[in-house]
Amino acid sequence: MADYDAIVVGAGLSGSTAAYCMAKAGLSVLVIERGEASGSKNVTGGRLYGHSLEKIIPGFADSAPVERKVVKERISMMTEDSCFTVDFSSERFKDPSCASYTVMRANFDPWLAARAEEAGCDVVCPAVADDLLRDGDKVIGVRAGEDELTSEVVILADGVNSLLAQKAGMKEELSPHQVAVGCKEIVELPKGAINERFGLNDGEGMAQLFAGTPSGGLVGGGFLYTNKDTVSVGLVMTVAGLKTSAARLPDLLEAFRESAPIKPLLSGGKLVEYAAHLVPEGGLYMIPTLTRDNVLLVGDAAGFCLNLAYTVRGMDYAIASGQLAAETVIEAKEKGDFSNTVLSGYVSRLENSYVLKDMKTHKRAPGLIEHTKRLYKEYPELAANALADVFRVSGPSRLIIRKTLPKIFKAGPFGLLMDGLKGSRAL
Ligand SMILES: Cc1cc2nc3c(=O)[nH]c(=O)nc-3n(C[C@H](O)[C@H](O)[C@H](O)COP(=O)(O)OP(=O)(O)OC[C@H]3O[C@@H](n4cnc5c(N)ncnc54)[C@H](O)[C@@H]3O)c2cc1C
Repeated sequence: MADYDAIVVGAGLSGSTAAYCMAKAGLSVLVIERGEASGSKNVTGGRLYGHSLEKIIPGFADSAPVERKVVKERISMMTEDSCFTVDFSSERFKDPSCASYTVMRANFDPWLAARAEEAGCDVVCPAVADDLLRDGDKVIGVRAGEDELTSEVVILADGVNSLLAQKAGMKEELSPHQVAVGCKEIVELPKGAINERFGLNDGEGMAQLFAGTPSGGLVGGGFLYTNKDTVSVGLVMTVAGLKTSAARLPDLLEAFRESAPIKPLLSGGKLVEYAAHLVPEGGLYMIPTLTRDNVLLVGDAAGFCLNLAYTVRGMDYAIASGQLAAETVIEAKEKGDFSNTVLSGYVSRLENSYVLKDMKTHKRAPGLIEHTKRLYKEYPELAANALADVFRVSGPSRLIIRKTLPKIFKAGPFGLLMDGLKGSRAL
């Protein structure tokens, strides 16, 4: 007789969601988390699209420690001397079905883990699951230090670099083309200053993504999110891109923070935290084997993350995949069969959900983002040059379109057209 029905490795969003859903259905569940507390090792930009958790815990944002509800979106293209921003705010973003929230994982993850504990799970931290426990080829639990803990099923929610998934033969070692590295700083500012500088009311938040100089012309981009009384500012860059350059991520982040568009927004702020983490960015083509007898992969361990340049999503997929894995394990418990025959139902559930549908819809996006180098230098410069022509007045006026269009064509109309076509098929 196993100690537990299910052991979940990792108390991030995917693991705690899976644990919560299984415990609510009456299964005995153990969660093992290597951090001092759930969330203490976790990094996100971050904005949580709330729809997936809203379906599991309706009205969660009323009691969860979210920072601000995002009502303002900005996308910017930066060059050395210019910044072109699209700024969009809408009351529509307040609807709970599509609302998104800035979050700090060190606060949010413990809240979700506490909901799982309330539902009846045992959560142990800090404890590292070092290996899978086997009886012959069958996985029968996990080994954590000296402890051997047994279960009918193990859910690996241990993040992008899941060593246990590799040990289970479900996942290859990560390649530099499949992952980006993200780093961020958290800058403390009075709530009123944040409201004033970003044009927000109490409780309202802003999300801003940047292309161009923040990544030093390499594949990647910057982000800025407003929290209650802090601002998160950071960069996400592909590992493959960084390997081709002498540029260092911390130097690029410093230059971004000190750049003309950002510096005044953070002026007088106090740097309170620095964090860095890998991000799975390979999309559909990096998804590993998701199930085998007695084992399932969820969240980042399964590669469920999509960076489309205008949205970055991983947390909502982590939560949704945790829920779908839990439903599958609940079915396996009812049938008394934890073999791959039943657990592979998880893949069908994912295929019928937005998780794998989105990965398929945007299967070309990672390639587009990695190979369309013009996005990171030429296009921001093109936009800056065209807009400088439009707005700069230094004497007699001229016919703007006649002046600007040839510059755009000089930049390569064929390249623009092809990139536009590829973008429309990928994003
Ligand atoms: C810089 C950055 C910006 C991002 N921005 C966004 C954003 O704005 N919006 C968004 O939706 N997504 C964003 N993402 C992606 C998002 O953060 C992830 O997709 C999400 O955190 C995945 O959740 P998870 O629970 O699967 O994994 P994780 O959050 O990585 O949790 C894994 C957990 O497993 C634990 N663990 C690992 N190994 C073991 C072990 N052997 N034993 C015990 N415990 C273990 C870890 O300590 C951790 O708690 C961003 C990511 C980064 C790095």
